[in-house]
Amino acid sequence: MTTNADPQELAKFGELAHRWWDPESEFKPLHQINPLRLAWIESYCPLAGKTVLDVGCGGGILTDSMARRGANALGIDLSTKPLKVAQLHAMEAGTENVEYREIAVEDLAAERPASFDVVTCMEMLEHVPDPASVVRALGTLVKPGGWVFLSTLNRNAKSFLLAIVGAEYVLKMLPAGTHEYARFLKPSELAQFCRDAGLELEASKGLTFNPLTQRYSLGADTDVNYLLACRRQP
Ligand code: SAH
Repeated sequence: MTTNADPQELAKFGELAHRWWDPESEFKPLHQINPLRLAWIESYCPLAGKTVLDVGCGGGILTDSMARRGANALGIDLSTKPLKVAQLHAMEAGTENVEYREIAVEDLAAERPASFDVVTCMEMLEHVPDPASVVRALGTLVKPGGWVFLSTLNRNAKSFLLAIVGAEYVLKMLPAGTHEYARFLKPSELAQFCRDAGLELEASKGLTFNPLTQRYSLGADTDVNYLLACRRQP
């Protein structure tokens, strides 16, 4: 079985991994958006006591925060170094109920179908060769009636200008080459992947960055970065 992963993408995250928990590093945007997405997830499904899977967890910014909200959290990724950083961070910070594993989401789906109350997959689909295959696996892993939360980058002229030209070349918030435009997904395309995976779309939300205030906020504008909340039919 060939793994649905791009080795260059995994290497890119591996090289930066030691700076994952530095809030002023390349990962600053993830640190900044984390409280927003965590609150958004909990507005649909409070996490205390829930069994949660975080797919493409990297150094564990979201995974760790969900465990701290009382979830039993498993983070998976295919890049080794970020996972090591995530484990180390959990030890240092004393985060309980969190575990990390290097395994493909499709393989975990075969191993543990219908096992998670909540599945998250954030800022990851735009780095994967076959995102529909990932979404199918998410649909298999979540329990009937459970929630799947996704985020990625929209594909249009504005997202090209803001997410690539603006963020990577003008503001230099991200290293050049972080994102590949062709892998961005329109909300309609991602929603279709979800339906095909037995997931019903419940809500969508835009995530925008204001370069003047240097702040992110959640709102109606899904043109660049956006989140989807889906539910597996009971
Ligand atoms: N989801 C985390 C990290 C986003 S960075 C957050 O939002 O905070 C993107 C992550 O996706 C990296 O850790 C990278 O290693 C991972 N990734 C890329 N391709 C992957 C694949 N095919 N399978 C699993 N993880 C992958």
